[in-house]
Amino acid sequence: MCGIVGYMGGQDAYPILVRGLHRLEYRGYDSAGVSLINQAGNLNVYKATGKVDALEEKCREADTTGTIGIAHTRWATHGEPNTVNAHPHLSQSGNLSLVHNGIIENYKTLRAMLEGKGYSFCSDTDTEVLVQLIDYTQATSRCDLFTAVQRALKSVVGAYAIALLERSHPDRLVCARKGSPLVIGVGTDARGNKEFFLGSDATPIVEYTNQVVYLKDEEIACMDRSGQLDIVNMDDVHQTPEMITLQMSLDELEKGGYPHFMLKEIWEQPAALRTCIKGRLHPASKDVVLSGIIDHKDKFVKARRIIICACGTSWHSALIGKYFIEEAAQVPVEVEYASEFRYRNPVIYPDDVVVAVSQSGETADTLAAIQLAERKGAFLYGICNVIGSSIARATHSGTYLHVGPEIGVASTKAFTGQVITLCLLGLAIAKEKHTLSDEMFHMLVDELYQIPDKMQWTLENNKDIDKFAQMFTYCRNFIFLGRGYNYPVALEGALKLKEISYIHAEGYPAAEMKHGPIALVDEEMPVVFIAPRRGMYDKVVSNIQEIKSRKGKIISVVTEGDTTVAGMSDHTFVIPDTRDCFVPLLAAIPLQLLAYYVATAKGRNVDQPRNLAKSVTVE
Ligand code: GLU
Repeated sequence: MCGIVGYMGGQDAYPILVRGLHRLEYRGYDSAGVSLINQAGNLNVYKATGKVDALEEKCREADTTGTIGIAHTRWATHGEPNTVNAHPHLSQSGNLSLVHNGIIENYKTLRAMLEGKGYSFCSDTDTEVLVQLIDYTQATSRCDLFTAVQRALKSVVGAYAIALLERSHPDRLVCARKGSPLVIGVGTDARGNKEFFLGSDATPIVEYTNQVVYLKDEEIACMDRSGQLDIVNMDDVHQTPEMITLQMSLDELEKGGYPHFMLKEIWEQPAALRTCIKGRLHPASKDVVLSGIIDHKDKFVKARRIIICACGTSWHSALIGKYFIEEAAQVPVEVEYASEFRYRNPVIYPDDVVVAVSQSGETADTLAAIQLAERKGAFLYGICNVIGSSIARATHSGTYLHVGPEIGVASTKAFTGQVITLCLLGLAIAKEKHTLSDEMFHMLVDELYQIPDKMQWTLENNKDIDKFAQMFTYCRNFIFLGRGYNYPVALEGALKLKEISYIHAEGYPAAEMKHGPIALVDEEMPVVFIAPRRGMYDKVVSNIQEIKSRKGKIISVVTEGDTTVAGMSDHTFVIPDTRDCFVPLLAAIPLQLLAYYVATAKGRNVDQPRNLAKSVTVE
């Protein structure tokens, strides 16, 4: 969570930092701040509560000159989101300024120790402890900032990505990471000199350079105006920077004419999924080729179990993946909330395959879950969207979604990207294990290949959702119901709606309804059924009848041409016919649109909903 941006080079730092903060605002947006060292050697810090716009407003008349600076957009963990708690934080000496992403777990102990040494604190944050600790270490060890950061971090417990400015040395930028991501961009300024960029991810960097170094865990970097980039690990061993060329394009980070990133990302799904299956699904040869499993076939063929660890929306896609992989590849699959799994000493066998699913590849709990699984000897497979992310690097193998950057906080294209990737994985394992007949395998390959076109059809044939959604802005509750493959879709539909509209919504397996939730149903309660003409259609029809008898309002997702469920419903969304197992990829779309239009009709900020942030790097 939270966004860090940094710059040092020949250009004015402020515009680069503020542009970068806007790009990173989806990671946290309760307050923002910037600090710069100007020509006269003054270290200026400006902070504001709220969005980056508020910071810009505050800085309008201020001295924002300087060619070196750091900036931050916060997602508060310790202390209210107010100006004092906003980053950057200054050391007591006024010499250091620091931004931080993460949580310092032993901050109370460190704070007490520093108070004993005469340090005082003005904020409630864990972060302020870090800057004072580094200042104290530098003062007592009489060392340079790079060394002081290395030494100070040895006594820090927790997760961090940090960046520091030093007033007395306006020619270097120091940063470090453990558990939270940090990317260094290396470019060339107008005079042909090296310039350095810093970001919590590559989005604030890509418009200036495509040459980046992903800082690894427990590494500390020092960038020098002379163009020198030094990286050491915690044991002071020098590391060779690994330069990577970014594949991301700037267009992918813009709204492209849409009012919100979320709507753009919903409409991007057919194209995004085509990219995801490209080179992997081969309809002509009726084949599936997943490079991630080619060198590890044995691990999958001999796997005793597959355990999928995930959080939030990824947990829902994992559940769909479980249903598909079990059915296609005949291997038991367990789906775990990573946050629970990591703390409950789970049974993990060396012949288990543990799959981590995370859009950002930085989800702290999922990362910790696979680290635990690794200690127990399991084979680790990552399914992430962000290239070079921590989970991608911490796993033995994996598959990238390739759906492009997802900026809207509520996941849409990453969800369907994860589902289709898990389907590819299921098919690839089934191919190795010969658990499907050739006929069935070929039919599934063909059908999966058509999904992007069917998604396009779904988008184009549900255009009235915006008008229809207006009617539901008054609702306080929603229920989403589905059976089989569509139960996780119900969970995801409910999550989407509550995330961005703040309407309370629950998803249930349709048959569970009568074990409690049906008590909530009255004429004011909209109940959304995912009721394709497949799977347990007749059973779902009975469940709809049960709700109708209690005067609930029925909204249903039905197969094109269906009249039975449509006749029982107050409103229907249509999807084309597809195999039962692939319905989630289509049924998710009207539910995403419903959430989007209800939320926008209520005037919500759908791209940056209250209290949420993308890339959950705190546990
Ligand atoms: N723990 C820090 C704070 O509350 C950093 C939070 C963040 O990652 O934005 O200020």
